[in-house]
Amino acid sequence: MTTASVAAARADEATALDARELYRFFRTGEEETLALRGVSLHVRRGETVAVVGPSGSGKSTLLACLAGLDEPAGGCVRVGGERISHRPEAQRARLRARRVGVLLQSGNLIAHLNVWENIRLAQAAARGRRSGAPDIAALLDGVGLRGRAHALPHELAGGELARAGLAVALANDPDVLLADEPTGELDGRTEQRVLDLLKSRADAGRGVLVVTHNTEVVGFADRVLVLRDGRIQP
Ligand code: ADP
Ligand code: MG
Repeated sequence: MTTASVAAARADEATALDARELYRFFRTGEEETLALRGVSLHVRRGETVAVVGPSGSGKSTLLACLAGLDEPAGGCVRVGGERISHRPEAQRARLRARRVGVLLQSGNLIAHLNVWENIRLAQAAARGRRSGAPDIAALLDGVGLRGRAHALPHELAGGELARAGLAVALANDPDVLLADEPTGELDGRTEQRVLDLLKSRADAGRGVLVVTHNTEVVGFADRVLVLRDGRIQP
């Protein structure tokens, strides 16, 4: 290997998530919205990054593209060194299940499955993963929901629901955890607890990226990026 390729391989190892020049357009009737206009960012292993921006700045679109839930029109997303963008949907879904944990605003639990079943389903989606999946009991312990394994989502209080969503997002020990407004409707104590749990992921050597309009929650991040009109501000 050349010195340059050794350096590139090291950089790859240290990077949990890397996005280059992401573009995403939406067309509604005659109108075209440029939701992302060349967004590049990275998250190192062990790092928490917050992307803040006003409503409509492109945060949710960005998170969906980073997570492999949406396909950017241009650019490239790599997670743990593996390209997740511009692949057939089935491949993208499998990579996502193995490498990415996502907390969405809309929640990420299936309504008719209990907490334990939701976690199990997430693990099943990542067939053929690198190592054994974390133990479900340990995941539940980690988010303080040991006694709630058999509860259905509608039986959980707001803070419990957020933590159950986190357990699902962590079901396959993902390289990177992505969260869209993770503290949106939580009370102050639960909010702090969720932020602590996110932070502990970074302490365990994973990457964490949060998008939010709430500038108060960004204090926990190692690095803050500002998104405006689909661009990261210099
Ligand atoms: P944020 O999460 O920062 O509020 P979004 O990513 O939801 O911003 O939206 C960014 C821009 O893209 C907005 O102008 C929004 O109206 C537009 N947009 C998002 N999703 C769609 C969609 N599915 N169809 C059309 N326009 C969309
Ligand atoms: Mg949003």
